[in-house]
Order: sequence, then structure tokens, then C-alpha cells
Amino acid sequence: MTTKILANRSCAVCGGRCCEALHRMDLAVFGNTSLPNSYQVVACVDCGFSYADSDGSQSDYDDYYQYMSKYEDKSLATGSGEFSWEQKRFESVGRLIDERVLDRRTDILDIGCANGGLLNILASRGFRNLYGLDQAAACIREIEARGYSGYRGGITDLLALPERRFGVLILSHVLEHIFDLTLAMRHCIRLLNDDGLVYIETPNAAAYGQFKTVPYYFFDAEHINHFTSRSLANLAGRHGLVVEDLGDKVISAAEGVDYPATWILARKRPGRMPEQLGDDGAKRGILEHLRYSEDSPVHDRLQALADSGRSIIVWGAGSYTQRLLGHSALGRCDIRYLIDSDKNKWGKRLRGIQVRGPSDIDDESLLLVICAAWVGSRIYDQAVNMGLRNPCIVL
Ligand SMILES: [Zn+2]
Repeated sequence: MTTKILANRSCAVCGGRCCEALHRMDLAVFGNTSLPNSYQVVACVDCGFSYADSDGSQSDYDDYYQYMSKYEDKSLATGSGEFSWEQKRFESVGRLIDERVLDRRTDILDIGCANGGLLNILASRGFRNLYGLDQAAACIREIEARGYSGYRGGITDLLALPERRFGVLILSHVLEHIFDLTLAMRHCIRLLNDDGLVYIETPNAAAYGQFKTVPYYFFDAEHINHFTSRSLANLAGRHGLVVEDLGDKVISAAEGVDYPATWILARKRPGRMPEQLGDDGAKRGILEHLRYSEDSPVHDRLQALADSGRSIIVWGAGSYTQRLLGHSALGRCDIRYLIDSDKNKWGKRLRGIQVRGPSDIDDESLLLVICAAWVGSRIYDQAVNMGLRNPCIVL
């Protein structure tokens, strides 16, 4: 049973505001950022596009990404192409571009290029005019060192780029993060040559139910748009792009971790707006994922921990912990501090609880609760290798 509401944030795909409220998500968000710590996950009644009805603004999200800049650390983040699972993901996009774009002098811009993994693949296929845009200064230094042209900024800074156009734009795992999709798409289209190609890839909401992972895995502070290939096609059509190809795939989000993705390849062509495709896939995928999340045994374990009143240290200050702090009994536990290997997080606070580095664990009597979606067992090994004697559980 769902309720119809008037969304704060209108549907970026059809412009409608009447939505079905699917789920209220509460999160812990880092203190100095202005992102909202709660939103409704909604599905547009008119076109089916599902998204977080966040009451933030695009500038809140821009500030957040600048503040966090997690993609700067190659050991923690994706986008460098240094791991074989990442390499495979970039190869499949490189192959698709290779088949469609014959002129190796075509200017190609990778928006959200991280450390340039995809640009490297395109270079290996003979493309010579490669550009990357990213928020993180370290990423821009990295790609420039490899001989590509870098622009520092987010998608909404595209207007500030020098007056130039591109033959191919790549938006791989970018649009799910964007608050103002209409503005972002307008900026992108303006940069595209007439007849230019856009490749868009995002998580695939229609397949959320098939990926059994940690509870509420697909809802966090950053992924605020839940696309399917149909909603991507509808979005592209609304902005004057004609879809040439689309599909779903399974990529790796980390070593051995499958992740559902969807993609379209669309071309800038004048003409009539295509008819909107019906799309209830995202809503079905989200509801299935919610049922799985609500039934997770993690809830009972955390409830017992909260009831025991025991003091704990939580290792992991990423999305999983942020979700559980807002959305489970973890938020009622006596947490002394959080541990994370990402030094960008050290000193920051979630719900007032400070994040420290692993070497700052100073009380071996406290229960260590490892809370990380993909790397729980790796963190456990790290704790053992560090000689820590704390009692420990992996969520
Ligand atoms: Zn809509």
C-alpha cells in the first residue's frame, strides 16, 4: 500500500510532481554538510521514474562532494582502472564507443572521470583527443599527468568550460548523484556536437530486488535517482536525444561484488520528441529490495546490542553505517567512536560521533562492530593483523 504525495522535487524525466511515496529513508550525514538526513523514495505517477524526494538543493550536493572528495584516494575508490574488475567495466564501455565512433580525432569528454581509467582504455583504442571532468583536484592532476586534458568541477560547472563542443560525452555512474537533472542535461547537450553521441550508465533500479546484499543498500545520501533503461531513454528523449541502443548489465562494484547497471547510447538529432515509454520497473525493484531489507536479521542483532547497553566501537563510517545509524537500532547503541581507513573522514562526525583512524583504537575491552557492505571480512583480517584484542562482530 503506497500513498500519493506532491513531491518537493519534481520528476526530472516528465516534469510531474504527483508521486507515490515508497519509503522514508533516514540517514546519518556528515556534520558539516548540508545534505538532508531524511527523504522519501518516490515513484512518479505519470512516468514511473523513481527518485529521492530530497529537500536539498544542487548546491548542497556540490558542496557535499567537494567536502568529501573521496575519489581522490586510489586505494579506496573506483575510477582508476587499476583493478581487474574495474578494467573489465571500462573495457565494455570502450568497446561500445569504439564500434560507434570511427574518427579517432573525435573529442571525447568523460564527465566524472575519477582517476581516468576509462580514458586510458579509450587511449589504448587509438582515441587521441580525450578530456576528463572531475571535482577532485588530485584526479585532474592524475589525468593530466597521463596526457589528457582535465577540467576541475561538477556537472553543473560545465557552463564554465571554454566555448567548445565534443563528439562524445560519457556519463558513467554520474546521473544517479545529480539533484538537478534538467539543468545537468541542458549543460551536457549544449556541449555536444550536432549528431554527437552520449553514453549514459547508472545503477539499474529494475534489478535491485535480485541483488541480495546489506539492508537498504541502494538508498544512501548520494544515489538520489533510481533509473531503468526506460527512464534513461525517456530522460534522453526529453532533451532532444534519439536512443540508438540500450541495455542492462551486471558490473563489478568491487572484487567479486556484482552490481546491477543499465545504459543507453543516444545521439543529438533535431526532430520530434519521442513518445514516453511506460516504466514500472524501478518501483517493482525498489519494493522488492525494501521487503528484503526489512526482513534482514541485522535488525534483531542491533536491537539486542542496543538493549544490552554495551559500549561499542563501529568500524566503517561509509554508507552502510550511515544508513544503519538512521534506520536501525544502531542509532540507539552507545557508540564511543567510529573507525575508518579513509583519512578524508578522520575528525569528521556522524550524529556527533567522531571518526578516527584504525591506529586510534585505544580500548581493547570495547566490542568492535564491523559495518561495511563489501569489505567486512577484510576489515576483520586487518584488525587481527593489527593485533587488536577487542571482541568483534561483523554485521
Ligand atoms: Zn515523471
